[in-house]
Amino acid sequence: MTARKKTEEPKKKVKKVTTPKNKEVKKDTKSKEKTPKSKKPPKLLRGMKDIQPKHGYLWQKLYKTAEGIADAYGFDFVETPILEEASLFVRSIGKGTDVVDKEMYMFEDRDGTKVCLRPEGTASFARAYVNHGMLNMPQPVKAWYYGPMFRHDRPQAGRYRQFHQFSCESLGVRDPVIDAELISVAYNFLKDLGIESQVRMNSIGSLEDRQRYIIELVGYLRSKRSQLSEVSKMRLSKNPLRILDSKDEGDMAVVEDAPQILDWLSEDSKKYFMEVLEYLDDSSIPYSLDFTLVRGLDYYTDTVFELYTENAEGQQSALCGGGRYDKLVEQIGGQPTPGCGFSIGLERVLLSLNNTEAEGSSIKPEKPTIFFAQLGEQARRRTLTLIEDLRKKGIIVGHSLGKTSLKAQLEMANEYLTTHTVILGQKELQDGTIIIRDMESGIQEIIDQKKLGNALQKIIDTKNK
Ligand code: AMP
Repeated sequence: MTARKKTEEPKKKVKKVTTPKNKEVKKDTKSKEKTPKSKKPPKLLRGMKDIQPKHGYLWQKLYKTAEGIADAYGFDFVETPILEEASLFVRSIGKGTDVVDKEMYMFEDRDGTKVCLRPEGTASFARAYVNHGMLNMPQPVKAWYYGPMFRHDRPQAGRYRQFHQFSCESLGVRDPVIDAELISVAYNFLKDLGIESQVRMNSIGSLEDRQRYIIELVGYLRSKRSQLSEVSKMRLSKNPLRILDSKDEGDMAVVEDAPQILDWLSEDSKKYFMEVLEYLDDSSIPYSLDFTLVRGLDYYTDTVFELYTENAEGQQSALCGGGRYDKLVEQIGGQPTPGCGFSIGLERVLLSLNNTEAEGSSIKPEKPTIFFAQLGEQARRRTLTLIEDLRKKGIIVGHSLGKTSLKAQLEMANEYLTTHTVILGQKELQDGTIIIRDMESGIQEIIDQKKLGNALQKIIDTKNK
């Protein structure tokens, strides 16, 4: 998208209506009911989504799972800006790709710089690697990040204009074990969430291998030009590799007999790829070879992979894409530095878990099993201090300070799957005591307020045994 000129709306002609002095003006009730234009709430932009409170826990679960596995494999958390110079992506992802040619949210900043909302994070991290001299750090530099990406594509189920990715990158070392480690992290992240995915593997060789292969491929595709879809005909000169992963039936029939890139790999690339596969075998990660897998972006070399799962309609859905990009850092002006990484699309992860709605989801909100109810204004004031004292001791309790009736609070406690409710009323406040009610048996115990922390800890310990 390029910067658009502000188009001025044509001025509407306003008809002057004059009312005869002594004529009664009928009230137009219909138009009165309408909300004036200026009062209408702004709409959510097409292809964008809000994460609502009722789904917050799902996103938190994704974030915590990502954090847990990235930490365990020794990746450091990083964050790069959402806004970057547009040239970063043009240079790295490359002209002729859909992302650069059609999908970037690009505009001029106030100072005239051409900027864009990042369509992906790998190029941004490679820029950060160069800018901060990370070449001088112990290699590989392993980083993970998590956040929104922007592509102005046609929105549909599982495809948004703003979506979130969890990504890991490993820069500085070219070794098949690095590729296998990244695939393992992506595969096990999904597994931790209960998703069995299939890994598809391919190697697109070095840039030289690919150039030789493209000549052969284009020769073959030209001979079948009449059978290709219109889009593929256009791609023949712009980005012929993409024809390989076309979903058009005619294209797919042509591709079936196309020369396969694996036959054009140099000995080095072939050996490298075999070793990556051996590591996957050793880690019992199931994979299949897919020579049509080329990935859309220019910067990939050698290993490319995608992780798939079946969506609710039984169709294959790509959850993760990744690969090796040994030329990327050089392409954006740094020292030659090998790299490898992956990105997982989190909206697709939620879709595949059938988890966009909390109902029927396999991920449940993590809510405290102890609830704190209060009765009366003074008890409410004391509650605020008590729940903070408990929090400092590591005890988290559910509560609803906005509710005053005990009934309403106990109803909420039931929603929390509470095992015990702490009740503080006027009488307890004066006595310095507090009630602990076992929600299943209904038995209530009155204890000294000072012993509340220990008593609740005992309950939690018994439950966790
Ligand atoms: P890519 O950066 O294109 O390799 O995509 C990596 C992953 O991000 C894909 O496998 C999808 O899960 C996800 N993804 C890519 N584009 C979109 C989009 N427009 N909407 C939602 N998810 C996306």
